Amino acid sequence: MLHFRQLFDGTSSTYTYLLADGETGEAVLIDPVFEQARRDAALIAEMGLTLRWTLETHVHADHVTAAWLLKTRLGSRIALGAGAGAGAECADRTLVDGDRISFGHRHLSVRATPGHTGGCLTYVLDDESRAFTGDCLLVRGCGRTDFQDGDARTLYRSVHSRIFTLPSACRLYPAHDYRGISVTTVGEEARFNPRLGGQVGEDDFVGFMANLGLAHPKQIDIAVPANRRCGRPEEEPPADAESAWAPLTYTFAGIWEIEPHWVEEHRNDLVVVDVREPDEFDGPLGHIDGATLIPLGTLADKAAELPREKPIVTVCRSGSRSAQATLILRKAGIDAAANLAGGMLRWRAEGSPVIGGRD
Ligand code: FE
Repeated sequence: MLHFRQLFDGTSSTYTYLLADGETGEAVLIDPVFEQARRDAALIAEMGLTLRWTLETHVHADHVTAAWLLKTRLGSRIALGAGAGAGAECADRTLVDGDRISFGHRHLSVRATPGHTGGCLTYVLDDESRAFTGDCLLVRGCGRTDFQDGDARTLYRSVHSRIFTLPSACRLYPAHDYRGISVTTVGEEARFNPRLGGQVGEDDFVGFMANLGLAHPKQIDIAVPANRRCGRPEEEPPADAESAWAPLTYTFAGIWEIEPHWVEEHRNDLVVVDVREPDEFDGPLGHIDGATLIPLGTLADKAAELPREKPIVTVCRSGSRSAQATLILRKAGIDAAANLAGGMLRWRAEGSPVIGGRD
């Protein structure tokens, strides 16, 4: 079994792909985005996977890779194309045409598909059911060819000789889409890609690309040098301000969570806000000693009155309303806030002390 997820970064319209072997849990991530490293790491943790590799389809000009951050956090290794240019010494492995990247019992084959940049790669899944084309071939489009050793003629030949030669039903996953379209197939693009499919010849394509008149990409002067360092910042990034005060877990749902035993041990250094209704607060589950009762529906109005000297832990019955509460607090400018994982149900199950309540 294969685990497969397509993830999206809205700022740069970048797709990141997670593939994992269902048997061993070994995973690879293609084109991770720096700002989404926390999200991707949370998903990998929640799915119980081990990230072996981050793979780049090319040196991106429009976003910075999360390769270095994920290596630091998860111990993954970095692989990118041998044609990536100066600075590729940050990679653990440089890839050339014909290489294989293994994850568990599965693997991706590397095809060199230059043209958008000189070092572009396409990753093809072992059974040729899926391929990850980077910016070489997009859904009904392709990457531009006017910088980073780009060349229209080379791109045309890459697409025709290395991508359109895959099985017609092979699903193609691009590095970007600006219209929200997520996938295509070899057969579809070979027929309907307006730049590269149907009867479009090499010279037609070269003429088309020479006259695109595109603006200089906004991020290129920042992104390309950063990506040549595999996304390693020039200065060590500060720890997340939101999570510096406790060992928090960031969930794929976007919530900072805190473990009950840590809250119990540090109870005096925290403000506990219980967002249940009054009858629940005094009901069978009881409540945490010293907790402030602010029902969720009134929290937005009362957030301004909360003391800010101590971090806030929110709690409810199961941890769902209190997750919402952390987002309300963040909106109110309170960053040091986290959700008590599992709520009062887990708090009681782990034997932490309760005021009131019944067994
Ligand atoms: Fe690109």
